[in-house]
Formats: sequence, C-alpha cells, structure tokens
Amino acid sequence: MSGNFSDQSQEMENQELVFNLDAEGREELRLIDEALQRIAEDAYGVCQECGKQVQEGRIKAVPYTRYCIDCATSQEE
Ligand SMILES: [Zn+2]
Repeated sequence: MSGNFSDQSQEMENQELVFNLDAEGREELRLIDEALQRIAEDAYGVCQECGKQVQEGRIKAVPYTRYCIDCATSQEE
C-alpha cells in the first residue's frame, strides 16, 4: 500500500502539470512544434505572412515566432 502512495502522488503531479498547461501553454507548445517543423523543412526564420526573413533580434526574443515584427504588429492590431 505504501508503494501505491508514491505512484499516486506522482500521477497527481503529472495531472497538475497538464492542468497548469492551460490554453496559453498549449498554444506555446504548438508554436514550438511548428517551429521545429519549419526547421525540418528548412523554412525556419521565414515570416509565414510576407515570406521575408524574420529579424534576428525577434528570433532571439521569440524563437518560435511565425511572423516578422511588421506582420506580428499588424496582426495584433
Ligand atoms: Zn512578415
């Protein structure tokens, strides 16, 4: 019975982790996933909107970004 207890608490921790990964966390994971996909396709760092190279400073700030700073700004508006 004591063995089960640690398994259960581990399970609860995992559930908590998934629970804490709310919409924002999941979206971020999805963007990272997409970025990895673009690396595989050799399209990483290219703006998905205008097709230009994303500024280096922006890639450093948001490595999984899909848009260059111009497109990201206009998307947010
Ligand atoms: Zn762009």
